[in-house]
Amino acid sequence: MAVLEQLTSQQAIELEDKYGAHNYHPLPVVLSRGEGVYVWDAEGKRYFDFLSAYSAVNQGHCHPKIVNAMIAQAKTLTLTSRAFYNDMLGKYEKYATELFGFDKLLPMNTGAEAVETALKLARKWAYEVKGINENEAEIIVCENNFHGRTTTIISFSNDPIARKNFGPYTKGFIKIEYDNLKALEDALKSNSKIAAFLVEPIQGEAGVYVPSEDYLIKAKALCKQHNVLFIADEVQTGIARTGRLLATCGNCNCENKNCSGTPDVKPDVLILGKALSGGAYPVSAVLANNNIMNVIKPGNHGSTFGGNPIAAAVAMAALEVIQEEHLAENADVLGNIFRDELNKYIKNSNVVTLVRGKGLLNAIAINDNESSNKAWDICLALRDNGLLAKPTHGNIIRFAPPLVMTKEQILECIAIITKTLNEFEN
Ligand SMILES: *Cc1c(COP(=O)(O)O)cnc(C)c1O
Repeated sequence: MAVLEQLTSQQAIELEDKYGAHNYHPLPVVLSRGEGVYVWDAEGKRYFDFLSAYSAVNQGHCHPKIVNAMIAQAKTLTLTSRAFYNDMLGKYEKYATELFGFDKLLPMNTGAEAVETALKLARKWAYEVKGINENEAEIIVCENNFHGRTTTIISFSNDPIARKNFGPYTKGFIKIEYDNLKALEDALKSNSKIAAFLVEPIQGEAGVYVPSEDYLIKAKALCKQHNVLFIADEVQTGIARTGRLLATCGNCNCENKNCSGTPDVKPDVLILGKALSGGAYPVSAVLANNNIMNVIKPGNHGSTFGGNPIAAAVAMAALEVIQEEHLAENADVLGNIFRDELNKYIKNSNVVTLVRGKGLLNAIAINDNESSNKAWDICLALRDNGLLAKPTHGNIIRFAPPLVMTKEQILECIAIITKTLNEFEN
């Protein structure tokens, strides 16, 4: 089969089914092209993308500035490894650390790798700066977290499908309820060997759970009081998705929607991925100040591809697009419209019980139990009506379009969504 031969959707699905591991359960739609808020299937039908590759494509599909930066760098120098310096990495590190307000950046590729990096960083800091005895440090995490798929990360997941038969699990993690300050305070008080608290500012995979207004500010204050690192996993919430550059700055009232937050909520360690590259290339990063990052010495940690020149060029372009196109502000404005309009619909609905979220990271809950197929069936009907979304955790449907959407487009999408939901009212 020639590489350039155009497959039908059916053929493409059959190939993946036969030759690929079955580690996903994709919605049956085969995408072959994307531009901005749109994707097209193999037969040329156009859809609004309401997943954005799990919020990796915040800047829209195939953003020309990002793609051009990638092409130009790919023609010049792709990979040197960190055995040598390259002339792009430092520029990118300066740009990103100034934008997010940290001393240093450690470049990786995927979100899970960046989470692993943050965990290693926190442990080393705990032994060398905080003074915890070697091998005794613990890290507090939240129930229903999603931080990726490595052996260590699934060790502290409580999703049985992600965990079962992958043991033995990595030790050193304490799980507490999300959005529960008392639980955090109790865990911090009862144990002097805590290195860090790892938290998602909004739990995306769990179903877009937005914590109470003061949760992050108070959690940060508790961590500070106990000399524990506050690690924010902003792989999904970061890069303008929730209406601010970072979700950890969503709790302040300052006018600057591109600031990285008041000191009250600013994480000690920030984890970014996904939209850091606008979906063009795997790029992730861990940011921290010198008092933390300087525990990492040559040979302690690394990645062949981490910090490669293409990644650096792509990430810089992707971050510039966020600022030039005011995507945080746009996500904020369109997100309010989206929730307002869906709330109007929900008033008279038997199918949808609620809409929640921040900026353009939103979800609706379908009035049915977790094991029913209704959310899946609604997603199939949305697909037929020209909009792609996917259930997360049974009866919850996440809606996260690219942030380059216009007001007219979001209104059109709301019409598609409410019309589709209406087909399921009885
Ligand atoms: C997607 C995600 C990850 C993992 O990123 P990968 O690039 O898939 O490894 C980690 N944390 C959060 C919050 C995520 O949403």
